Amino acid sequence: MARIGVLALQGNFAKHAAAFMDLGQAVLEVRHVRQLAEIDGLVIPGGESTTLLNLMEDEPWFEALREFHGGGGALFGTCAGAILLSREVRNPAQRSLGLLDAVIHRNAFGRQIDSFETGIGLAGSDRPLRAVFIRAPRFEDLGAEVEVLARLENEPVLVRQDGVLAATFHPELTRDRQLQRMFLEMTQGKLAIGKNDPRRQAPDTEAPGLATAEERRITC
Ligand code: GLN
Repeated sequence: MARIGVLALQGNFAKHAAAFMDLGQAVLEVRHVRQLAEIDGLVIPGGESTTLLNLMEDEPWFEALREFHGGGGALFGTCAGAILLSREVRNPAQRSLGLLDAVIHRNAFGRQIDSFETGIGLAGSDRPLRAVFIRAPRFEDLGAEVEVLARLENEPVLVRQDGVLAATFHPELTRDRQLQRMFLEMTQGKLAIGKNDPRRQAPDTEAPGLATAEERRITC
């Protein structure tokens, strides 16, 4: 079984942990860099990305997270977490991990008052995904390796690239667990082909969502 952690420095980490626990998955609350060694997949929750960046100064998080990704760890960033994972951040510019080849614009769907919930189409699924947007960022530019898994009014809102899943919304705030399942499958798929297997470096191009861990082992 994949070992899942939730970055628990700031933001909505408890709800994320509860969402995975609904699926019978144990979750580690990660507060220190050294705990990354105990997990295979990490959720970076929504919250406030500038505050999160400040809190991350206490330990060498940037190096550790890049190493985690390079060593085969899967990452799932939601909202502020997606901002942190992107290559370039605008409005205003701020530091980011650059593990997702995307330019992201903060607070692009307006302020708190403009938060909303809606159903969106999810690639590989015949059920719409419930999604809550809260002062959500917008992907402005995606690299060729980035796969778009869901759009809202033609704007990409859920994307994936080589072990990184990023949503501009909050999947932990609804009862829909499709993305938690998808992240578990991604994490297991990575484990199945081995952390040092060169095939891991190839971009993920197969259909998302419904592929089972077994199918992923064959297609990866
Ligand atoms: N607006 C926040 C930011 O820029 C993100 C909002 C969220 O995570 N819900 O960091």
